[in-house]
Amino acid sequence: MPTRTIITTSPEETEAIAGELAHNRLPELICLYGDLGAGKTTFVRGLVKALKVKARVQSPTFTYVRIYKGRPTIYHFDLYRTPINDPLIGEQLTEIIDRKDGLIVCEWPERLEQYLPKKNRIDIFFTHGSEDNRTISISTI
Ligand code: ADP
Ligand code: MG
Repeated sequence: MPTRTIITTSPEETEAIAGELAHNRLPELICLYGDLGAGKTTFVRGLVKALKVKARVQSPTFTYVRIYKGRPTIYHFDLYRTPINDPLIGEQLTEIIDRKDGLIVCEWPERLEQYLPKKNRIDIFFTHGSEDNRTISISTI
């Protein structure tokens, strides 16, 4: 599994890394792993900007998905607070994935991993370093 690891020192740099990724062929699903404050939402913001989708990116707080309409439409999931035992959530997630009409980016994917496709996806791992340092490992599977 090829992996690329980058250390960024500011939110702007993390956004720029997302921008670089957006210039390549994108998968159906981008999974973002890492603790709170590690930079996942910042990365999504960079991706949305680079794809020229007009939206204010913030963590979905009262819902678990935000939809940014554009080309492509971006489905921004954050499963941090999602009740994982509610089968309805799994069904809704599956329904969106099956539409295949946009790009799905997902924070805390490990919470509902069983519903996520294994192919055509990129996994990205974020870790906090000291101060504004963040380590970002990008792997393809
Ligand atoms: P998460 O979605 O993983 O919880 P956020 O992207 O919401 O994380 O928050 C990251 C926080 O860390 C923001 O307040 C951001 O300004 C700050 N930050 C500092 N340095 C970086 C960096 N190198 N990359 C990303 N965010 C950074
Ligand atoms: Mg977040």
